[in-house]
Amino acid sequence: MNAKIYVRNVKHTMKGLLTWSLKRAIGPYRKQSRWLRQVQWYSAQELQQLQLKYLKDLVKHVYETVPYYRQLMTREGFTPADIHALEDIQRFPILTKQDILSAGASLHSRKYPKLLTKTGYSGGTTGVRVALLRDLWSIGNEHAFVRRQFDWAGLTTQDVCAYLSWRIVCPPGQQQDYPYWYDAAMKELVLSTFHLSNSTIPTYLELLVKYKVMAMVGYPSAIASIARYCLRDSIKIPMKAVLTTSENLDAFQRKQISEAFVCPVYDFYGGSERVCYIHTCSEGSYHILSEYGITELIEIPEQPGIRKIVATGFWNRAMPLIRYDTGDLVIPGPRMCSCGRAYPCVEKIIGRQSQIIKTPSGREFGATVVECIMEFILHDLASFPIFEAQMILYEGFHLVLEYVSERSLNAGEEEKINSLVKFHIPEDFSIELRRVSSIQKTASGKALSLVFNPSTQKTTI
Ligand SMILES: [Zn+2]
Repeated sequence: MNAKIYVRNVKHTMKGLLTWSLKRAIGPYRKQSRWLRQVQWYSAQELQQLQLKYLKDLVKHVYETVPYYRQLMTREGFTPADIHALEDIQRFPILTKQDILSAGASLHSRKYPKLLTKTGYSGGTTGVRVALLRDLWSIGNEHAFVRRQFDWAGLTTQDVCAYLSWRIVCPPGQQQDYPYWYDAAMKELVLSTFHLSNSTIPTYLELLVKYKVMAMVGYPSAIASIARYCLRDSIKIPMKAVLTTSENLDAFQRKQISEAFVCPVYDFYGGSERVCYIHTCSEGSYHILSEYGITELIEIPEQPGIRKIVATGFWNRAMPLIRYDTGDLVIPGPRMCSCGRAYPCVEKIIGRQSQIIKTPSGREFGATVVECIMEFILHDLASFPIFEAQMILYEGFHLVLEYVSERSLNAGEEEKINSLVKFHIPEDFSIELRRVSSIQKTASGKALSLVFNPSTQKTTI
C-alpha cells in the first residue's frame, strides 16, 4: 500500500470514529437496539397499538413546536385531541417535495437548536435536492434500525462490509488510481461505483479478499456486474450476505449475486427523508417496519395493482414529515410471512414513478417496458457478451441502446436484439445499438434503465 492511500485510509478512519461516536456511542443506539430486538416479535395488534401511541405523540409534538403544522391544523380545524385512531392521520393532507421546499424553516421544530441537528439531503433523482434537518437523537435511532436489518442478514458489527453505492470516493469522470477507501472504525470498505468497469473489477476483487469482506451493500446493477465477471471467470468470493437497494433487484441479478458470493441476497428500501423502511427477511418477504413509521399504500387509479408509498416517520423530531409522498411505487403483497414477524408485507418494490411518454401513434412507453427488454438482453441472451446496458431516448423518438461489452456484437446478435426491441416498443421509434465504455449514472451513482434526453452525446467505442 502506498503512502497516499495509507494517509487516506487513516483520514477516513478518523472520520469513522466520529461517525461511530455519533451513531453508536452517544445517543439512543444501544437502548433502541435492545428494544427493536423485542418489538420485531410483536403481534399485528401490538404493532398497531404502538403506532397509535407514537402517532398521538408526534401530532402533539408538531402542534406544539412546528409552525408549519400548527398553522395547517388550525386551518383544517383539528388538534392533537382529535387523533383517536390510525386512520385519523388522513386529516393531514399529503405532503409533497414541493411543499417541503415552500415551507422552508417553518417545518423545523422550535424544540431543537441548530447545534443539536445535522443536515442531510434527499437523493435528487427528480432533479430537486431538498435539505433535511435531523436531530442528533434520530441518527442513533436510525442506526439501530439499520443494524437490526444487518442482524437479520446474520451480520455483526465486527464484519467488514463493502459499499458500492452513492458514496463518492472521488468525483465522477476523474481518473483515480485507488478508487476506494477503508474506514477501520466502522469496518467499511467504500468502493467507487462511478469507476466500476471491467478494467477495475480485478482490483475490486483483490480488495474484497484483502479486507476479508463479509457483505456487500449497494446498487444491484453494480454488484451484479461484479458477480457476472466472477461467474464468467469461475471466481467465487464467499460472504455472509449481500444487501441491495435503490434500484429494482430482479430474479436474475439475485441469482448471479448469490452464486458469485455464495450467500443470500437481501433487498431494502429506505430514503433520506426517513419516513419508511422496508426490507426483506430470511424468507425473502419485504416487510414494512411498523415501528419506523406509518406507511400508507395509496391506490393509483390509472395503474391498477400498483400502490404509491405515502409515509410518516416517527423518529426525526427536528423536521417531522407527515404523510410524505415518496413518489415510489410498490405491488402490495401477501399478508403474512412464515418468518413469524407480523409486519405487513409488499410483493415488490417498483421504485420511482417513472415518466411515461405518448408517441404520435398513441402508444405509451416508459421504464417498465425497457426493464423487460433489458432483463431479456442481459440475462436470457446469456451468450451475448453484454455486461451492462441502458436505453437513451433522444428528441424525435430516437432510441439508442448503449451496451458495455468486451467486443462488438456480430451482425447476427445485432439482428436478434434489434428484432426484440422492435417487437416491444412503439413503431414510432428508430433504434440504434451503440457500444460504449460505460453507461450513464445519476449523480448518486444509480444506473437507470431508461434515460430521457441526456445533455451530452457520448462517442461510440
Ligand atoms: Zn418474514
